[in-house]
Amino acid sequence: MSIQLTSITKTYGVQKAVNAISFSAKKGEIVGFLGPNGAGKSTTMKILTGFIQPTEGAVLVNDIDVITNPIDAQKQIGYLPEHNPLYLEMYVREYLEFQAKIHKVSKSEIENVIDKVGLTAEAHKKINQLSKGYRQRVGIAAAILHNPEVLVLDEPTTGLDPNQLIEIRELIKDLGKDKTVLFSTHIMQEVEAVCDRVIIINKGELIIDKKLSELKENNEQVIKVAFDYKIEEQFLMRLPNVLGIVNNFDNSWTITFSSEEDMRPKLFDFAQEYELKILELNSENKTLESLFTELTSN
Ligand code: ADP
Repeated sequence: MSIQLTSITKTYGVQKAVNAISFSAKKGEIVGFLGPNGAGKSTTMKILTGFIQPTEGAVLVNDIDVITNPIDAQKQIGYLPEHNPLYLEMYVREYLEFQAKIHKVSKSEIENVIDKVGLTAEAHKKINQLSKGYRQRVGIAAAILHNPEVLVLDEPTTGLDPNQLIEIRELIKDLGKDKTVLFSTHIMQEVEAVCDRVIIINKGELIIDKKLSELKENNEQVIKVAFDYKIEEQFLMRLPNVLGIVNNFDNSWTITFSSEEDMRPKLFDFAQEYELKILELNSENKTLESLFTELTSN
C-alpha cells in the first residue's frame, strides 16, 4: 500500500479534530477526501505528510513510518497545502529551481515537470503575474519535482474559474495514472469528476470509504406520492421493498424503497387494488450530492 493510516486521532486541547480514522490507498488510485469545512481533512493530510504528529495512531507511506521517519517518508510524498504558499516575487522557473535544490533534483527534471503541468508558456513570468489556475500549476509542479509516488492535494481547485477547474482536474487525473493521489474537497461534484474512490469524513469521523461506482449503485428510490384519500402509515407498509415512510402533510407521503426495479408502476397497482387515486407522483432519486448532504448534515 502507498498510504496506510491506522486509527489516527488528533486532539487539540479538548477538541478531537480527527477521531480514529483508518484508510489505505494504492498506486494508481485517485481518492477524493470529502467533508464539510471543519471535518478534519487538512488535519489528516498534515498528519499523513508528517507536518504534524497524531495524538494516537500509525501512518505508513510506502511502508515508511511517517511518525518516526518523516524525512524519508516525505521523499515519497508531494504535498500541495491548502493555501498554496508561493513566493510571489519569484519567477516560475526560478522558484522551481529553488525548490529543486531543496530536493536535489536536476535541472532537466525541472523542464520535464514544467512541460507536464502545462507551464511552458508561463515559465518566464513572475508568479504574481499568473492567474490562480496557473499558480496552482506552479504549486503542483513544486509538489511533483522529486517524482513522489504519493500526491496529497489539499483543496486544489478552490477558487478556480470554470475553465481553470476543468484544466486542473485533467491534470490531477493525468498525474493519478502512475501515482496515488489523495485530494480533499468539500464539493461532491469534484469527486465525481476526478476520483475512483471517495472517503467522506464528518466531525473527525470516517463515515464512508467506497468506490464511486459502488456509491452510484445505491438502489434506494425515493417517491413522493399524494392520494385522494387519507390513509394510515401502516396501510402503506403493505407495499413491497419499503425502507421508510414520511407523511409530508394530509394525503402526501414520501416513501423510500430499496429496489432495482422502478417502483412507480407498483404504486399504481397498489392504488388500483385499494381503490385509491394518485393525485401526484414524483420520483426523487438521490444524487450523490444529496447523499453527501444527508450524510454530513448532522
Ligand atoms: P477541514 O480541513 O476539513 O476544514 P480541519 O482539519 O482544518 O478541517 O479542522 C478540523 C477541526 O480541528 C476544526 O474544528 C478546526 O477548528 C480544528 N483545528 C484544526 N487545526 C487546529 C489547530 N492548529 N488548533 C486548534 N484547532 C484546530
